[in-house]
Amino acid sequence: KPVVAIVGRPNVGKSTLFNRLAGRRKAIVEDMPGITRDRLYESAEWLGREFMIIDTGGIRFDDGELFAREVKWQAQLAIDEADVIVFVVDTKDGVTHEDEQVASILRKSQKPVVLAANKVENFDKQLEFYEFYNLGLGEPIPVSAMHGRNTNDLLDAIIAHFAPQSAYQEDEDAIKIAIVGRPNVGKSSLVNSLLGEERVIVSDVPGTTRDAIDTPFKFDGNQYILIDTAGIRKKSRIKEPAERYSVVRSLKSVERADVVIIMLDATAGVNEQDQRIAGYVHEQGKANIIVVNKWDLVEKDEYTMNKFDKEIREDLKFISYSPILYVSALTKKRIYKILELADFVAEQHHRRISTSELNKVISEAMLLNPLPGGGGRRLKIYYCTQVRTAPPTFVLFANNPEQIHFSYLRYLENTLRSNFGFEGTPISLILRKRE
Ligand code: GDP
Repeated sequence: KPVVAIVGRPNVGKSTLFNRLAGRRKAIVEDMPGITRDRLYESAEWLGREFMIIDTGGIRFDDGELFAREVKWQAQLAIDEADVIVFVVDTKDGVTHEDEQVASILRKSQKPVVLAANKVENFDKQLEFYEFYNLGLGEPIPVSAMHGRNTNDLLDAIIAHFAPQSAYQEDEDAIKIAIVGRPNVGKSSLVNSLLGEERVIVSDVPGTTRDAIDTPFKFDGNQYILIDTAGIRKKSRIKEPAERYSVVRSLKSVERADVVIIMLDATAGVNEQDQRIAGYVHEQGKANIIVVNKWDLVEKDEYTMNKFDKEIREDLKFISYSPILYVSALTKKRIYKILELADFVAEQHHRRISTSELNKVISEAMLLNPLPGGGGRRLKIYYCTQVRTAPPTFVLFANNPEQIHFSYLRYLENTLRSNFGFEGTPISLILRKRE
């Protein structure tokens, strides 16, 4: 998790801002008189990005240390520990000598700094905070920590500095694949069929393979990592029925995956457990493929696949965006297709749409199917922007977000899908208020 540190002179409002940013839900309770808690670290979240937040102001010297040293020490701590530094200044005081000292330390550090100009009363009076440009730390963001005003913009600026969040990019482009499904659908068989193939090159680094949980391999020049295969592979070697590859364990592997293969048994149909597993994958925001195994056991005619498609779509409505593939782990029919599709859905998962393209599509959709008026006041969505990938996440700025019906969001999601694809990946739409 990225770490965000708040620095600044005493009384500029660091702790108030800390409480605003960290315990957004708890803030109301904590603001009540008589409840004081000294927290140095707290976890926070904004637009799906989680981070740790440190209030360096909570660190005090009780032996009356010189103030200047305290502030410098704070700044140093922030530089050492944090990924992003929030430097709080007070618009009531203007730029002080101490502010300049801290700014100079921060500028030298090369760390991303977000400058928060606190205690702004009138957000239209730009003169109030424009002098803070002189600190050489970029644009000051006016906020009122006390009243929680404009902290959204501050949070936007903070998370904009975070490294892109994706295991996909970390691991030299290897696609991490997890296979989930209830017992006996054929997960182990698939893993062994895949890895046992000549065309699949399993990296055999001495000393690592035996205990490794994951199995890296190459196919057609592409790199893949099968997640948590240790249990699966062992099981098939030492035929021990007691050592079932549990559903819980396979769900754990989802967290680390880019692409999840949701495996079904063609001879068994979709049951409640399959639905729960698929639901979990969807909620985790993972790219996924529905793989129907044991296709060799099904008596087929020209309608069979269609019939299966229909049933699966009906039973797994919430992942209607996922491709369906019919395979046999036993005869190896179409198992390589799984890897091709994994490449494809991983790409969709990391897809980024430009703001101009997005807004063109969204405004067309709104013309075609306008938002209803809300309580005398017309509902409006002003603009839309993609804030992250994996899964693609879009923020829609609206005048009255709480009045926009869920079904309208679904309409917009369908519009995005029919324009841009996004096959095999969940996408997320977040409404945000903007006057
Ligand atoms: P897991 O519990 O999901 O890992 O399932 P296994 O891989 O252990 O498979 C369960 C049973 O189904 C075993 O007896 C396999 O031999 C069998 N099986 C797996 N895949 C196929 C397939 O594609 N076709 C057929 N006919 N049997 C399969």
